[in-house]
Amino acid sequence: MTAYDESNVFAKILRGEIPSKPVHEDEHALAFPDINPLGPTHILVIPKGKYVSFEDFAAKASEAEIVGFVRAIAETAKKAGLTQAEGGQGFRLIANAGPAAHQEVPHLHMHILGGGNLGPVGMQKSRDKA
Ligand code: 5GP
Repeated sequence: MTAYDESNVFAKILRGEIPSKPVHEDEHALAFPDINPLGPTHILVIPKGKYVSFEDFAAKASEAEIVGFVRAIAETAKKAGLTQAEGGQGFRLIANAGPAAHQEVPHLHMHILGGGNLGPVGMQKSRDKA
C-alpha cells in the first residue's frame, strides 16, 4: 500500500486550500458534491483522517472513526433527500480502491449516487461477459 500523499486534492479540500460546498460536516467526515457528477446527485464523503483507501481505513482507523464515517454517509444521503425514510428513492454507494477500480484520488472517498433510476450495478455487465 502506498503512503498517504499530503498533496492529494481531498487533503487540500480538508485543509481549506481548495474550496468546497459541504453537504455535511462533522468531527469525522466531510461531504461535498463531485466536481464531475455522474448523475443528478453525486456526492463524495471523505473521512477527516489520512487514509489512502477503504483497505487502509478498515485496517487502521479507530472504531470511532469507522462508525463516524458510516453515520456521516447515512446523514449525507438523508440531507440530500435520497433515503427512503425521508421519502427518497434510494441511492448507490461506491468506494473505488486501488488501480483495478481506477481510484484516482488517494484519500478514501465514498461516492453517493442518486436522484433517479440508477439501473443495475455496472459490475453486472462484465460478469455476464466472463
Ligand atoms: P475515484 O475515481 O478516485 O473513485 O473518484 C474521484 C472523484 O473525485 C471523481 O469522481 C472526480 O470527479 C472527483 N474529483 C476530482 N477532483 C475533484 C475536486 O477538486 N473537487 C471535487 N469536488 N471532486 C473532485
